[in-house]
Amino acid sequence: MKRSKMKISVKWKLTLLYTFFMTLLACVIIAILLSLSNETILASIQTELKESVENAFQDIGWDDGGLDIDNDIMEVEQGIYLSVYNENSEIIYGKIPHGFMDIPPMQEGQLRTLQDSGTRWYVYDSSAEIEGYGKLYVRGIVSVTRAEESITIFLRFTLILLPLMVLLTAFIGYRFTKRVMRPVYAAARTAEEIYESGDLSKRIPEGRGNDELHKLIQCLNQMLEWLEETFAREKQFTSDVSHELRTPVAVILSQCENLLDEEEMPKKFREDVEVIKRKAAAMSRMISQLLMLSRADQNRLELNRELVDLSMLAEIVAEDQQEIADKKSIIIYTKVEPELTGYADETMLIRLFVNLLGNAVRYGVEGGIVEFALWREGERICGSVKDNGIGISREALPHIWERFYQEDPTRNRPDESGAGLGLPMVKWIVQMHGGEIWAESEKGKGSTFGFWFPQKK
Ligand code: ADP
Repeated sequence: MKRSKMKISVKWKLTLLYTFFMTLLACVIIAILLSLSNETILASIQTELKESVENAFQDIGWDDGGLDIDNDIMEVEQGIYLSVYNENSEIIYGKIPHGFMDIPPMQEGQLRTLQDSGTRWYVYDSSAEIEGYGKLYVRGIVSVTRAEESITIFLRFTLILLPLMVLLTAFIGYRFTKRVMRPVYAAARTAEEIYESGDLSKRIPEGRGNDELHKLIQCLNQMLEWLEETFAREKQFTSDVSHELRTPVAVILSQCENLLDEEEMPKKFREDVEVIKRKAAAMSRMISQLLMLSRADQNRLELNRELVDLSMLAEIVAEDQQEIADKKSIIIYTKVEPELTGYADETMLIRLFVNLLGNAVRYGVEGGIVEFALWREGERICGSVKDNGIGISREALPHIWERFYQEDPTRNRPDESGAGLGLPMVKWIVQMHGGEIWAESEKGKGSTFGFWFPQKK
């Protein structure tokens, strides 16, 4: 079977598609993350810090002669530490981060970056007048180094994780598609097997499941069932018809012979009867070929292999065919290796040789030559029939093995025999012997038919 020029399987195409979109997504995410540079993130931390400090004043009030500070201030949200100071910059409440040793003087409404023991800090101070108490300061402190570190860690993590996710998607996607496509591969395999073996009894494994693919397989199997039945019926029909026709044709032939035995028959009648006899003989040959092929199709034909003197058989057939060849002044040369023996079905081999030599003579030219060779090559018996006849066109050559195929059915043939069944039968005989047959030809120059089959069973 000719395979299509498909280079990438559907399985891989789908996997590449998933992977492509996943990579695209990963690239977009990475691009967004990279565009959110440190500056942007740090700017948002600064805003956050300012807002937390300003909002802290809402948690401070004067109640019953004392300061009432909500303990929300003690909570460290998003790394922001808040602390409350009196007018003399003395801490009265809140938290200061560990490592922030130096307590700088207050600078209201100004965001500062301070360095302390290897860590950078953002510090923001603000003050407000608390009714009943007086001026109060709130200071917010956040570690810049920690924020930067977490950004780097996050970026690094994403850069590792995203490619891993792409790989994982590709892997899972491939496995998944392979699984989903399994029934399709099984169907293709069965179709190929049926094509190669011609065995219509094969079925595609249906497996479990009830999806569209399983439905398709069920339909294909039903179709194969129908095809098998139709072919079997057709084979039976051909076999029955050929069988039924054998007797009447045999009767026609024998009646013709009886009539031709009549010596007093007028010349005109005699010629007519001879035409009928020739046609009936051709029909009889055709019926027996058809019967043989239909039996072969139904596996009802078996070879009867025995040790055959191939050299003798070849010489006898060549001698017989020489009589027919004489009418066209064709000479059959034999190049048969002496004492060649092999396990084969003698009757079938006679048919093989007769058909090949018969064709070489039939399609040979007046005064032409035919070369019939038979030899041994290791464990094989090889043969060839070569003529310098009309040849076969390049277009017709692949079709000569098909049933009822004739390159030119209107061609005038002296013996009026043949219906395009000879070569299919020849091919079947060689294949049943476990061998191969082929043809080479050039229009107007001649043809060569070559074959081989194993010498032993
Ligand atoms: P047919 O009964 O027509 O000879 P075959 O099956 O024997 O049927 O051959 C099929 C066709 O192959 C023939 O009709 C002919 O066109 C071609 N063919 C076979 N053998 C030869 C040959 N030796 N030279 C030229 N054409 C040939």
